[in-house]
Amino acid sequence: MTEQELMLTAVLECERVNLYVDRPALSLEQKARLEDIKARRENGEPLQYILGTCEFMGLTLKVDGRVLIPRPETELLVEAACEKVKLFFPQKTVKILDLGTGSGNIAVSLAKCVESCQITAVDVSPEAIALARENAENLQVAHKIHFVTADMSAYLKEQKARQNTFDLIISNPPYVPTNQLARLPRDVQREPRLALAGGEDGLDFYRAILVQGVACLNSGGFFLFEIGDGQRANLEKVCSSDTQFAKIEFQKDYVQTDRIMVVNKSQNLELRTQN
Ligand code: GLN
Repeated sequence: MTEQELMLTAVLECERVNLYVDRPALSLEQKARLEDIKARRENGEPLQYILGTCEFMGLTLKVDGRVLIPRPETELLVEAACEKVKLFFPQKTVKILDLGTGSGNIAVSLAKCVESCQITAVDVSPEAIALARENAENLQVAHKIHFVTADMSAYLKEQKARQNTFDLIISNPPYVPTNQLARLPRDVQREPRLALAGGEDGLDFYRAILVQGVACLNSGGFFLFEIGDGQRANLEKVCSSDTQFAKIEFQKDYVQTDRIMVVNKSQNLELRTQN
């Protein structure tokens, strides 16, 4: 939907099609609400924060200033994860770890798409975890997701020590390089910096997850990441230093930019280390 359609359907509490079929007139109260939304929008507030909701994978999620607004590109990440589950783990209860869950968009939509799964969703922000839990409850998947407030590196270290492993480790981590933060569009600047800032080259979280997380991934398991513009080559370099990664795939987004990275951990690692 266009922004205009999103505003009108919210104010009129109707479906998009009704805007064109019924051509409803706005009451005075609705006009005032629409003016208020437009004024806040002109002031740089993201529309999803104003309306308090965001559509993701056909689900309506609650969003506000506590979390990053789910982007359409991230749907490609969820689709890639569902594809891997279908191909490689069709018969089992898949163990999935979502790092930096934010609104819970990835965890909640995976819980909806994957029949048999056990998801752990981690975020360093307790406010984000509260909202993610609310989304999981509203969409009736809370029983499939365990929420944890923790720094992702510390969490991975702890799981490594406990030898807790997963089939999929998925993340849309903060990936904006420090020097680009001030140049982000005005509405993106309203989103939590914690969810955007990826360190000097934007790769801090990928390095942490790949290094700490490899021990937490089952052999044959997958890391699935959303990545930033132009980060592919440097991420390939990061991965090439670890011989446990059997295969790296990239997928492009709607504007032909490499946006999804899937790293497969070798199947026969145990055999290799024994030899
Ligand atoms: N894609 C986001 C943007 O539009 C960045 C999200 C992230 O850092 N994970 O800026």
